Amino acid sequence: MTDVDYCVVGGGFAGLAAALRLKQAGRTVALLEARDRLGGRTFTEVRTDGSWIDRGGAWIGPGQDRVRAMMHEFGVPSYRQYTDGEAMIVVDGEQHRYTGTVPWSMSPWAAMNIGAALLELGHMCKSIPLEAPWTAGNADKWDRVSLAHWLHHNTLSKSAYALLETAIAGCYTSDAAEVSLLFVLYQMASGGGPGFVLGVHDGAQDARPVGGMGAIYRPMAVELGDSIHLAQPVRHIHQDADKVTVRSDELIVRARRVIVAVPLAIASQILFDPMLPVDRSFLHQRMPSGSIIKTAVVYDEPFWRADDLSGQSAAPGSPATITIDACTDTGRPGILCVITEGPIARRIGRLDAPERRAATLTALAERFGDKARTPVDYIEQNWSIERYSGGGMLSHAPTGVLTQFGHALRRPCGRIHWAGTESSAVMCGWVDGAIRSGERAASEVVEHESLVTSGGKSTTR
Ligand SMILES: Cc1cc2nc3c(=O)[nH]c(=O)nc-3n(C[C@H](O)[C@H](O)[C@H](O)COP(=O)(O)OP(=O)(O)OC[C@H]3O[C@@H](n4cnc5c(N)ncnc54)[C@H](O)[C@@H]3O)c2cc1C
Repeated sequence: MTDVDYCVVGGGFAGLAAALRLKQAGRTVALLEARDRLGGRTFTEVRTDGSWIDRGGAWIGPGQDRVRAMMHEFGVPSYRQYTDGEAMIVVDGEQHRYTGTVPWSMSPWAAMNIGAALLELGHMCKSIPLEAPWTAGNADKWDRVSLAHWLHHNTLSKSAYALLETAIAGCYTSDAAEVSLLFVLYQMASGGGPGFVLGVHDGAQDARPVGGMGAIYRPMAVELGDSIHLAQPVRHIHQDADKVTVRSDELIVRARRVIVAVPLAIASQILFDPMLPVDRSFLHQRMPSGSIIKTAVVYDEPFWRADDLSGQSAAPGSPATITIDACTDTGRPGILCVITEGPIARRIGRLDAPERRAATLTALAERFGDKARTPVDYIEQNWSIERYSGGGMLSHAPTGVLTQFGHALRRPCGRIHWAGTESSAVMCGWVDGAIRSGERAASEVVEHESLVTSGGKSTTR
């Protein structure tokens, strides 16, 4: 039995940020993490040659000020994403190399259609109030339809549809029919619009921390020291008039309040006693995650750079749907990141590992040449089967969920406060949003203390 001021459930960036800020404010904290490692949907593996692989979240972009602040606090520098050379898209079996943002050679007509659709989405994003997207003027209309419905009515060719679906639905690692249009607009708006979300240079893939995400979460953990308890999946949270009791298989923590920082998709695995209010418990049932397989294919050197290719490519329907250069700041060894999402990730997830590897390398060889067939290392991470993530990259809202249950995303339930990237109004879905949510939840519980000591009325019950 441990008695502390506050308990935090989950040791991803949200939980770590919450615990760190509370500890820095002089409070005692116990952080219970289910896995035997920290980082959650980020997971940095350091290879024997000193290079690193980010098996989960990796990139940062402009406007992500809280992850930048955390990097500054722990002295973690960043480096720009490699974008020299041409990108490539493969449509209807044909390869198109291009520079800039629009692959005109594919079909000027389709390219214009894609540009116009993105402009329209950007325009719609501007009308979304980030703190309460369910109050947008068109919220009801947009929450009734899926992204697939909107794409269907706003694309004029099969190839424009396929590319937009790969790019946009890919962000939610789901089929476009699974995701509410309102949720897409909200999530994109929270990052500044489609240009940021889909962009590399000056977009969400603009830069990386030197040493990977682990270079940030490891020193956070060092500062938290023995407040962290690994391999402690929380099973039960009970609240009474004075305190909360948080139970894992081995630990019982008594605390004034608890911050739960686990993905929405798996939050209902915890037994809450008394039961959560209906809107919150139904939210847990209604925000699933998508499927994503992220693979680092390692070569002695980034041979694609010599062929004037950036390493960035997209091929809707392929087992290697998206690729991007994922070398470290030194540029050696050559690391190509392959991302496969949604229905294709589930399909190739059913193959056995050697078959999946063969299919992926064949797809890479078709794009980058025969050298792609012989990597020196191949590191695959299937987030869809991670018990304590429930999929990736983020939990999304299908139609009807944000307007009905969105208001419960951040609202505390008695002594239980909520963090996690999905609860962040800004940079929702990114590491930056996770840090913001943890810092917000830490402020909430501390603010509550001052309400109590000043005789103010609790706003949380
Ligand atoms: C493949 C992939 C690529 C991505 N790329 C990027 C990117 O380039 N840039 C970016 O910014 N973001 C990216 N993301 C998203 C980013 O990783 C997440 O937004 C962020 O890590 C979420 O942090 P979190 O703390 O909210 O949740 P998590 O990281 O999911 O943390 C939740 C923690 O809770 C733990 N937990 C779960 N259940 C329990 C329980 N019952 N008891 C105790 N602990 C529990 C989990 O083990 C986990 O450690 C990517 C994600 C994936 C999967």
